[in-house]
Amino acid sequence: MTVPIAKLSFWGVRGSTPTVDPATWRYGGNTPCLELIAPDGTQIILDCGTGLRMLGSRWAAPNGGKAPGTHILVTHYHWDHIQGIPFFSPLYVENNQFHFYSFRSKFLGRDSLKQVFEAQMALPYFPVDMSAMSARRKFKEVDGGDSFTVGENKITARWLNHPQGCLGFRIETRAGTVAYATDNEPGDAKLDESLRELTAGVDIFINDAQFTPEQLETTRKGWGHSSWLEGVKVARQAGAKTLVLFHHDPDSTDRMVDSILRHAREEFDSVFAASEGMVITLGAPGDPVQAHMPGTRTALRREAQFHAKVCGVTEGGKDFEEETVVRDISLQGALISLKHLPRLQSELQVTMEAPGADGVQSMNLRGYVVRIDAGPEKGHVAVGVVFTD
Ligand SMILES: [Zn+2]
Ligand SMILES: [Zn+2]
Repeated sequence: MTVPIAKLSFWGVRGSTPTVDPATWRYGGNTPCLELIAPDGTQIILDCGTGLRMLGSRWAAPNGGKAPGTHILVTHYHWDHIQGIPFFSPLYVENNQFHFYSFRSKFLGRDSLKQVFEAQMALPYFPVDMSAMSARRKFKEVDGGDSFTVGENKITARWLNHPQGCLGFRIETRAGTVAYATDNEPGDAKLDESLRELTAGVDIFINDAQFTPEQLETTRKGWGHSSWLEGVKVARQAGAKTLVLFHHDPDSTDRMVDSILRHAREEFDSVFAASEGMVITLGAPGDPVQAHMPGTRTALRREAQFHAKVCGVTEGGKDFEEETVVRDISLQGALISLKHLPRLQSELQVTMEAPGADGVQSMNLRGYVVRIDAGPEKGHVAVGVVFTD
């Protein structure tokens, strides 16, 4: 019997507006879009931010073309959750089939999402009109409290606290359960309770973490967003196993998101900061929640050998120090062979000895763990780090 596995991919993780600032490239600048492939092959897309364009450019028909279309859940109509739609190339291919789900907005009335499509593609906002979109599209209205099934997976929608409304979704698959709750501000007792119900016992809880707890209490109060601390509280109360911090502020640099993640990890055991290209698998034997970071985007690698001392934190939370040889290095990062298993998305201090004009010099670098693979040597892991300064 094969083990049921679900695969959750992060195509866009940034809130409010895309950013191309180099200081934000590590977590990524595309706005919200996630893709969940359930064990039965059902493909579910969550939100249509600019990340959707990336998903479209690497499009693979669900289940090798055998599954009856793709299901797209749209949480609400703010730009950052819909602006990828006109740039999603599979919508322009005949025979593709999409089922869209979203709520009836009181500002748009019946067929709200269909109207959003038409408005986005109205002239002169976009060079071609709706007639160019030849894929089959079906629209279904969903209300807070509704439950329905796609394939063999159960989906439940709940209202969140956000200007003009927003839906959170809970998706139950054979491999595990995911709750997606972006764009939500805590503080409304009824909706807070509803969020706890939506996330009860989930394996993965993706939560709005746009602001710091200090911002949320002061300058950003009432903006409709949350913080890592509120995410930790809900995760604890609802018994969620892994928390994913999501909808990063466009003004948050990678270093700021690093610090948000560090704070959250001090308070909760299993936390990741959503990162463009990150994939989480659910249901693998032995380790039901596994995160994988994107392959290194760096070119200019060179084979060299540097002796290095590496200090970091293990998967189990213990400090370690180890001597090793760094063989594969670029300006942005390196592949380091280690006996210790450092934690994904943790910091490593790498002190390298590099030959310079005046003999061997010591170089101190701060690295950030982006991937971990089985190492070429027995008992070692190959650790991919990106240098952050
Ligand atoms: Zn948003
Ligand atoms: Zn919003």
